[in-house]
Amino acid sequence: MSKNMRRDERNQAKKSLAPPIFQTATFTFDGSDDLEAYHGGETDAFFYTRYGNPTNEAAERKLALLEGAETSLLYASGMAAVSSVFLSLLAPNARIVIPQESYRHTRDIAEGLLTRYGVRVDIPAENTVESLEALSDGQIRVLFAEIPSNPTLRIPDIGQMAEWAQKRRARFIVDSTIASPALFRPLEHGADLAVQSVTKYIGGHNDVVAGAVSGGLDIIDALREQQALLGSILGPQEAFLVERGLKTLELRVRRISDTALKLAEFLEGHPRVSQVYYPGLESHPDHQRAVQYMAAFGGIVSFELDGNHGKADELVSALQIPVLAPGFGGTESQVEHHVKMAYADIGIQGAENRGVPAGLIRYSVGLEDFEVLRDDLGEGLKKL
Ligand SMILES: *Cc1c(COP(=O)(O)O)cnc(C)c1O
Repeated sequence: MSKNMRRDERNQAKKSLAPPIFQTATFTFDGSDDLEAYHGGETDAFFYTRYGNPTNEAAERKLALLEGAETSLLYASGMAAVSSVFLSLLAPNARIVIPQESYRHTRDIAEGLLTRYGVRVDIPAENTVESLEALSDGQIRVLFAEIPSNPTLRIPDIGQMAEWAQKRRARFIVDSTIASPALFRPLEHGADLAVQSVTKYIGGHNDVVAGAVSGGLDIIDALREQQALLGSILGPQEAFLVERGLKTLELRVRRISDTALKLAEFLEGHPRVSQVYYPGLESHPDHQRAVQYMAAFGGIVSFELDGNHGKADELVSALQIPVLAPGFGGTESQVEHHVKMAYADIGIQGAENRGVPAGLIRYSVGLEDFEVLRDDLGEGLKKL
């Protein structure tokens, strides 16, 4: 008997509840007719994993349902998703408008890479419709927004921005990573595309780096074709983890948001804390908009201490429960002195020039009990 398996002996996926991990680079055909049928679009077979993989498809379907999208596409990271959208929609002389306070590397792509390719980048000082109105007309192809923004959690008026973009035939792209589709679905408010760093709340366990874009079939199909060329796909192992994360997204984010609101209230009442940025607090400049747009206020609480920014270093070192680590959105709480973690290369002055407060502490709430996190913060603040 041959040691090599015959074609017709190969195992097919059983009726597995969890999606099997199709850990394969390529897919086989029964014969030339089958191959031809595939190329003729007559079968739903797969071809080569750079063009698609069933494990990814399972996760993409689930994400599309949550985003209220026709379809979703996974990427190797959030940055792969952001950069691919930009490359797909922009060309030399086209303009993109991005907010002053945006995820640092999104802005870096816009100001670095895009500018190098002849794209014009507008960064209005205020993230308001009035400042959009003040821009000169013409050639604006993309309007980009984040909800909430990082790190002071501003909530732009997504509905008005969508109208503004539509009038100018610009595509409106919303990065809603910090809200996650559990709290805000950009497509329901007029966005053309919703972008996610899946690494954060959707993955949810700090064990996968991934990104996603959701939207209409036409625009995502073009991105899918581009992805097959550029190769920024997510591997099937990671896609499996994304699908698993999606199962509990809503539960996690609801619980995390409940705890975060209580922590924000605790911090706001604490004498050593000079400012708290949390959209669930009435003191937040966009609180009304947050109530209007979001199902809950999310898991990130940013705050500043009284005294100099060295106190922020002391506090993040003194805390015993949250890990000191970049990123957010996992089951364990994470804390950082934001400029020290995310702007080490350009320093405090460079970060301040970009509008990031020097002493800002960003606290990403996890699934621990509120009382445990509160007492830890209380102890840490007492030591300052
Ligand atoms: C983390 C993050 C990104 C980048 O995602 P990666 O998965 O780290 O590449 C983009 N936008 C926002 C708002 C983020 O928080």
